[in-house]
Amino acid sequence: MSLSLVLLNDTLRLHDNPLLRLTGATKAAVVVLDTNAFFGEQYGIARANLSRLQQQLAVITQLKQQLAAQHIGLMTLVGDRVQLIRQLARELNATALYCAEPVAPDERKTLLQLASVLPVTQLDGNSLLGDTLRPTLATLPDSFTPFRKQLEPLLLVSPPVSAAPAALGWLTSDQCEPYNSAFDQLAAQYQPALLQSVASEQEALARVAQFIWQGRHILTYKDTRNQLLGQHYASFCSTPLALGSLSVRQLWQQIVQFEQQVDANESTYWLKFELLWREYFRWQFRKYGKLWFSKNGIKQAIRQQPDFSPPQLSERQQHKFQRWCAGQTGIDFVDANMQLLNKTGLMSNRGRQNVASYLIYDLGLDWRLGAAYFEQRLLDYDCASNWGNWAYIAGTGNSSERRFNIAKQAQLYDADGRFVRAILTAPSA
Ligand code: FAD
Repeated sequence: MSLSLVLLNDTLRLHDNPLLRLTGATKAAVVVLDTNAFFGEQYGIARANLSRLQQQLAVITQLKQQLAAQHIGLMTLVGDRVQLIRQLARELNATALYCAEPVAPDERKTLLQLASVLPVTQLDGNSLLGDTLRPTLATLPDSFTPFRKQLEPLLLVSPPVSAAPAALGWLTSDQCEPYNSAFDQLAAQYQPALLQSVASEQEALARVAQFIWQGRHILTYKDTRNQLLGQHYASFCSTPLALGSLSVRQLWQQIVQFEQQVDANESTYWLKFELLWREYFRWQFRKYGKLWFSKNGIKQAIRQQPDFSPPQLSERQQHKFQRWCAGQTGIDFVDANMQLLNKTGLMSNRGRQNVASYLIYDLGLDWRLGAAYFEQRLLDYDCASNWGNWAYIAGTGNSSERRFNIAKQAQLYDADGRFVRAILTAPSA
């Protein structure tokens, strides 16, 4: 009997999930919680915090329940991805591995390593361009505007797969259960149920319906998107998109249907425009891989040598960095945004741009420290969007430096100081 492993790591959902529509051989659905990504460190900074771990545990747990209702079992493994899948493939005599096409260099490397063990098929379920307009990386424009101008007119996003998962041929929950003890222990230890995860598939789809259809907030998005606090100034889809519990094609389709059935304006277009930024960074990461993490930036890294040496901090710089992380720099606009991040795991796009600029240009610190701290805290952490945006502001990506005048920005976006007061004078929990 031939068996395929189907890795659901980047598609933690039932809707629009091509991996769940595979037919043929017996299949084992698998998710690996990678210990390095959740318990590892980079530059001496933990790569995740408790909230992000709890969120991951909660979303995987929910997926497992949803799959069980479809008579599909889920193996939930904890450890090193390559080792675990290699071991599982051997144990089950697996002859193929199916997964979503990754973006992060680490994940791409994992698949290369696994390809020497068994044939790997990658399906692109998380991109807008993936299957209809796959760009040639060598000629892909490096800056956003040429990228958008070249691809936007041709964009034909495929509709999300609507068929129900093919229930036949999957290992059942009972067959998968013996593989789940490490995950179950972790879940019991960290109690993800305590966290109301807005990132689960159900919550994400409800959020899309609320933002677009019920509240019609999408109609004013272009005017509200620079706000700093609130529930509806932006879509709040980044977390489920990052986890793969929401399909970007599903979101795109909902926007287009709203435009066709209700109204299309600058704001409805702008949400698609922002999704193109996400898309841009994804393909850029596929093009330049780990050069995005080079201190001296992509162009220098190509011309000279990439600089992957870890940031070095004097005692004084270390102190400045700690105060930035804690939201105690003394600059209220920066502090309020950082404290919001520390409390909630999220921050508006406007806030992110400002605190990043402050760390790089006002404090004179290595941009990679800021990116690493964001990676630890952000519930919507996404490798390409996070490191790509940091590099973009630092001018180490494919663009020039972007420095923000913090005082001016605070005046422009929080003129009456309401945001700063709401955060800095809020009683601590
Ligand atoms: P909306 O304004 O509703 O936008 C809709 C969607 O478009 C977002 O969910 C996101 O998928 C995409 N998007 C919007 N802006 C950007 C952008 N600048 N770059 C890439 N995609 C975008 N976004 C992440 O998803 N994960 C990250 O780790 C992340 N780190 C960031 C770090 C910095 C320094 C900066 C400046 C931005 C970062 N962003 C990141 C982008 C952006 O700030 C968030 O996507 C956005 O604030 C999420 O809120 P939303 O879903 O309500 O966005």
